[in-house]
Amino acid sequence: MATQIYLDNNATTCVDPKVLEKMIPFFSENYGNASSTNHIFGKKASDAVQSARLKLAKLIKSSEHEIIFTSGATESINLAIKGVFERYKLIGKHIITCRTEHNSVLDVCRFLEKRGADITYLPVDNQGNIDIQDLKDAVREDTILVSLMYANNETGVIHPIDQIAKITAEKKILFFCDATQAIGKIPVSVQDIAVDLMAFSAHKMYGPKGVGALYMRRKSRRIQLEVLINGGGQENEMRGGTLNVPGIVGFGEAAELCSATMKEEGKRLAVLRNRLEQSLLSLDQTYINGVTSIRLPHVTNITFRFVKAEQVMASLKNFAMASGSACSTGRLDPSHVLLTMGLDRNDAHATLRLSLGRFNTEEEIENTSESIVQTVSKLRNESPAWQLYESGIIK
Ligand code: PMP
Repeated sequence: MATQIYLDNNATTCVDPKVLEKMIPFFSENYGNASSTNHIFGKKASDAVQSARLKLAKLIKSSEHEIIFTSGATESINLAIKGVFERYKLIGKHIITCRTEHNSVLDVCRFLEKRGADITYLPVDNQGNIDIQDLKDAVREDTILVSLMYANNETGVIHPIDQIAKITAEKKILFFCDATQAIGKIPVSVQDIAVDLMAFSAHKMYGPKGVGALYMRRKSRRIQLEVLINGGGQENEMRGGTLNVPGIVGFGEAAELCSATMKEEGKRLAVLRNRLEQSLLSLDQTYINGVTSIRLPHVTNITFRFVKAEQVMASLKNFAMASGSACSTGRLDPSHVLLTMGLDRNDAHATLRLSLGRFNTEEEIENTSESIVQTVSKLRNESPAWQLYESGIIK
């Protein structure tokens, strides 16, 4: 079988071998329950959780007391948005978010709409940016929460989080940020940005699946959340359930590795990504989505007009890529992010997302660009739409 080349790191990343090594003892000899601190097994587990909490806190410059471990970003997002709504709905029921958010945010908003929430969905421009004036204009007397992501999972476009946080702080509205794709890839500091709540997942940053966290500000302005999962009082009464100790240990290790390598890794991946883009742009009728905006260093979202991304992927079976958000793959709906950015359905279906990662080599990227260029050219030559375009009948 030909070597597989993995370019879908925004869907999930490989667990770094260094992370796995640290996790294994917590499946075997150190299997204690982190709440059973009256014996050595539980004490070891509890110490390991505490150490992971510190490592994650260091990565985002928070206090360890502000980290709540969850099962992943989706749970953190549910806890943040539903938790704020339930706690503050007597003060106001208006929430502001954006049409290009991940479905885990949009679905929670739709759920809350059925329970009386009033949601404003901000648009973006054709580069994927929100207009800060739109946000200012959307704020009302009864606005309780702004929920905007740090970096988009499809395009890598980074929102102006500092400007958003200034507005929410000024207006005394809570700010929740889904930072799932940004954490470990670019510096994120809750010390420098007045964000109140932030969600993450370990498996997007070379940690294991099934573990995530919610940052909840405790210093200066203190937030209250209605708890989503009631149970044994874990996580300061904020999230019941026996802690996933191996997962949390892996998350901590992944955070520590990212703290140490993020800068160099980001630079290396940006060089590879830019090289890849340059070579793919040699194809006619090909464009990058979100190109002029500030983007994550490892992502490209690229449209090859007159060819179906699904066909490109089917022809290149040894390359793992995405034709939209991984979470909506399976349904062949065009990406809601690309449609919001103004692409038509055909162009959205002609789009690939390539997300590079820690283990991609220069050789793999060269191989990828050559293979995509060849495949797109071949498929276009066979496509009636391309022939009509070339003869000037369609534009
Ligand atoms: N938010 C964003 C931006 C994401 O990319 C994802 C994962 N695709 C999630 C939230 C949900 O993360 P998880 O599946 O780990 O809960």
